[in-house]
Amino acid sequence: MKKFQSLIILIRKNKNIIIINYHYKFFKDDEKMGKVKKEDIMSILETYDKENITIATLGSHTALHILRGAKQEGFRTAVVCEKGKEVPYERFGVADEFIFVDEFKDIVNDEVQEQLKAMNAIVVPHGSFVAYAGLSNVEDKFNVPMFGNRDILRWEAERDKERKMITESGIRMPNKYENPEDIDKAVMVKFPGARGGQGYFICSSFEEFQEKIEEMKSRGWINDDDVADAHIEEYVCGTNYCIHYFYSALKDEVEVLGMDSRYETNIDGIVRIPAQEQIEANLSPSYVVSGNHPVVIRESLLPQVFENGDRLVETAKELVKPGMNGPFCLQCLVNDDREIVIFEMSARIDGGTNTFMNGSAYSYIQFGEFMSMGRRISREIKNAIEEDRLDVIIT
Ligand code: ADP
Repeated sequence: MKKFQSLIILIRKNKNIIIINYHYKFFKDDEKMGKVKKEDIMSILETYDKENITIATLGSHTALHILRGAKQEGFRTAVVCEKGKEVPYERFGVADEFIFVDEFKDIVNDEVQEQLKAMNAIVVPHGSFVAYAGLSNVEDKFNVPMFGNRDILRWEAERDKERKMITESGIRMPNKYENPEDIDKAVMVKFPGARGGQGYFICSSFEEFQEKIEEMKSRGWINDDDVADAHIEEYVCGTNYCIHYFYSALKDEVEVLGMDSRYETNIDGIVRIPAQEQIEANLSPSYVVSGNHPVVIRESLLPQVFENGDRLVETAKELVKPGMNGPFCLQCLVNDDREIVIFEMSARIDGGTNTFMNGSAYSYIQFGEFMSMGRRISREIKNAIEEDRLDVIIT
């Protein structure tokens, strides 16, 4: 968030006092702003031929339906692909142009950026794009028009920011424990970094916490630095829903487009082992997503679903202007009080949208046609071009 501080300087000169009062712009560390400025992106966009926009993304994650959806809406498409990983985009025929790179992270190289701009490309960011390109590079170096609010990506990446946004929205999250000594019921202990939940564990007391920490260390899954950064939260016993929303900044409206639940290895394998053998097998769970199931939620929970989406969008407008823009996802557990408890948020298209490449129950009800999340993004871009309001949805 931008802040201005008035600084008053008094200079004694020839016994007269000159007061210099000027505004000094500063950012606190935790409010880092990217170096890629909206004004610069808008100047690039002005040079674009709006009749010939290309929708581009990195060849991974949700690229298939982002590109297919773009074609359905009449755009040309481009995929930035690591050499050897182009097969799905060729075989499914979703990409008009291929930009080959040695490694995914090269998408931020000047040469690739120039190629994208020459195609009048609007890039759709997804989870792998952010992971491979690197968040700081997206914020500071990637000078290509992007769909959505690039400043919000940091809010999903940092656990404290994510918690701030969700709790300030008045949405229920698992309670956080500041000290392991305070553990008084089942908790889940998580560690930083993308490790697919390896080393995460469940325990119910401080003693058990200490024992499991030692066990994870001896397995080489965590080290002392990780222990210092352990995140401890209430274990929510419930069923998993990942709810895929789309916020249309053009219409100022939140849509629910689909839901999935995760298929995670090896936790979903472990629960297939009977209890006695589980104990003997002495396996530790990990939570690497290997697939997704489409789901629908009981209808009486839908008011809560919409309320959570609406609240988050309002809070995001305050915390990271202009706020949400396009797809976002709330990952939740529904407990037996029928309460939706959110444990994670994505502020861009989430991988679980792959469960409805041909539309979901909800997107069909909303649009009366097969609407994937990828297609919805391109529909928004198309509407913005028609209304001459691309500035609302591009950063
Ligand atoms: P990561 O982001 O490191 O993959 P997550 O926060 O998504 O980790 O958690 C991994 C899995 O653990 C989730 O998919 C969910 O099944 C489960 N989980 C996460 N938080 C809780 C919680 N507070 N209570 C119960 N299960 C949880």
